[in-house]
Amino acid sequence: MSITVFNTLSGKKEEYKPINPDYSGFYVCGPTVYDYFHIGNARPFIVFDVIRRFLIFRGYNVRYVMNLTDIDDKIINRAKEEGVTSKEIADRYINAFFEDIQKLGIRPADVYSRATDHVPEIITIIKKLIAVDAAYATAGDVFFDVKQFSRYGQLSKKKLEDLQAGKRIAVDELKKNPADFVLWKKAKPGEPSWPSPWGNGRPGWHIECSAMSMKFLGNSFDFHGGGQDLIFPHHENEIAQSCASSGCDTFAKYWLHNGFLDMKGEKMSKSLGNFITARELMEIYPASTIRLFYLQKHYRGPIDFSEDGLNAARTTAERLALTYKKLARLTPGYTGDFEMESRQQTPRLKEFHHRISTLDEELIAAMEDDFNTPGAIGKLFDIVREVNKFIDEGAAEEQEKEVLAWVQGKLDDYDRFLGVIDKSQGGIDHERMDAVMRAVIKLRHSLRKEKNWPLADQLRDGLTEAGIILEDSPAGTTWRWRK
Ligand code: AMP
Ligand code: ZN
Repeated sequence: MSITVFNTLSGKKEEYKPINPDYSGFYVCGPTVYDYFHIGNARPFIVFDVIRRFLIFRGYNVRYVMNLTDIDDKIINRAKEEGVTSKEIADRYINAFFEDIQKLGIRPADVYSRATDHVPEIITIIKKLIAVDAAYATAGDVFFDVKQFSRYGQLSKKKLEDLQAGKRIAVDELKKNPADFVLWKKAKPGEPSWPSPWGNGRPGWHIECSAMSMKFLGNSFDFHGGGQDLIFPHHENEIAQSCASSGCDTFAKYWLHNGFLDMKGEKMSKSLGNFITARELMEIYPASTIRLFYLQKHYRGPIDFSEDGLNAARTTAERLALTYKKLARLTPGYTGDFEMESRQQTPRLKEFHHRISTLDEELIAAMEDDFNTPGAIGKLFDIVREVNKFIDEGAAEEQEKEVLAWVQGKLDDYDRFLGVIDKSQGGIDHERMDAVMRAVIKLRHSLRKEKNWPLADQLRDGLTEAGIILEDSPAGTTWRWRK
């Protein structure tokens, strides 16, 4: 079956047909590196990681590129606050970004490109835009002339007249038109700058993505991803700059946009101050839980952040890991190669094989339908239920172990793109663990009541060594895994 993709450009689902038979170009707008990324930012990193991995699973040779915005007002301000250079801030948070995405089980991009490494390419594009009258320089700044690009508004479905009417002329007297946007910013004292034909300055944000995507993927490529907030103006401007300079009809063929992660009905964002960093969340929950929490919702819809939701995802992720572990224990030494036809077909085996095969097809079909991960995860749990039932109904016979190894191979396949099976933790049964910990906490409480501090401390130290943290509060003591 073919893969269908919801394309923001056309506003409908389309069959995926690669531009180039050799590779599928995929560009995703990356982080602005002035702080640790928050769990709203983590959403595009996770969902596009899954989409990329599913395409690879389906045999596409994906070339995945992500930019790192390492020059920006927020970085400059942070550097001023701390009395360090912008480069030091960017380097620090780029390193943190790499650490965090690795912990989140996100596969590294084929190319990470920094804006400041591409100033010559950016200048070349701006020069071209000026040469074809799509841009103009005024007093050290360069602006894109939106009136010169007839398709402006095509992605965001905005009309130029409305955009002009919506802005006050007084905002920027240097512009010909209020909707024009900056390509090159004149240097301000004390800020990083680069020489250019228009004087010292630095690139605008939008142009960096045009320059880096075209450099690494060509003038036309398959997928462009980012959060829904980037549709306008960022992605609209990327299309205008790229096509006006290269003459391309199609810049990115399929535009994919993820929905927001909200906190109590409001978008999670650094500027609103209602954010939790991915780092902080990973102190409490394993990556498999966090990924499952996101992927249980379709990538285009909103997600409401909640502790209850995450706790439920943890229980689900643990159940999945437990079943995986059970399979691994039952089938050591089996390869997973299984041909139903060459087997002695007992009714039990036949039925189980048939059910799993059907669910397998349905799971892949869900992914093919605009990467419907909630649908796929639903099928994954139907498979988990079937496996547990099959094992519980009778100890697996020799031939049945082969079919179980085959199912385990299927789980490995799904996890190549979903990344939700925690194989390292080995599937600790959270409910049982919690019951044990409640008994341990009670014991510690009794020791403290008896003022047996040495033994109470010894108990706590032993738990810390085992990776368990106890948290005391007026409401009582709770426990959690140290991550
Ligand atoms: P930034 O570092 O702000 O440039 O954002 C990096 C990526 O995170 C972009 O694709 C944004 O659209 C996306 N993003 C920011 N906030 C959220 C949110 N609350 N939910 C989902 N995606 C977000
Ligand atoms: Zn971008």
